[in-house]
Amino acid sequence: MTYDSSNIFAKILRGEIPCHKVYEDADAIAFMDVMPQSPGHTLILPKAPSRNVLDADPAVLAKILPLVQKIAIAAKTAFDADGISVMQFNEPAGGQTVFHLHYHVVPRYDGQPLKSHTGIMEDGAVLSANADKMKKALG
Ligand code: AMP
Repeated sequence: MTYDSSNIFAKILRGEIPCHKVYEDADAIAFMDVMPQSPGHTLILPKAPSRNVLDADPAVLAKILPLVQKIAIAAKTAFDADGISVMQFNEPAGGQTVFHLHYHVVPRYDGQPLKSHTGIMEDGAVLSANADKMKKALG
C-alpha cells in the first residue's frame, strides 16, 4: 500500500480543511479528534508522509514519541485524568481509518470504558474549549 496524499490529515496539514490545533512545530502537529473517545482525545501526526508505522522513516518515529509523551502529560493535567491511553493503528485490519501516521492520546478515568472509535462527532465549541485547555497545559 502506498501513501495517498488525498487523505483527510494530509488536507489538514496543507491547510485545506480546518482543525482544532493544540501544537505545531516544523515536524509535527497535534489537534483534537473530532470524534473523541473521551474528552481531550488528541491526535499527534508527523508532517512527513507515511501511511502508518509500517512504512514510516525510523528517524520520524524516533522524533515523534517525545511529542506524544509531551501531549500525554498535558492531556492528563488538562483533563484531570487518572491515566492516558496512547493508541496507534496500522491498516484497516489493525483498526486504522485515516492513512497518515498518527498517535491517539486519550484521557482515561478509573472504571470508565472508552466511547467507540470514530463514534459521535463532538460539537465544535466543545472541541475548541478542549483545545484551549490543552494549549494552556502545554504552556
Ligand atoms: P484511526 O482510525 O486510527 O485512523 O483514527 C483516525 C481518527 O481520526 C479517528 O479517531 C477519527 O475520529 C479522527 N478524525 C477523522 N476525521 C478527522 C478530522 N477531520 N479532524 C480530526 N479528527 C478526525
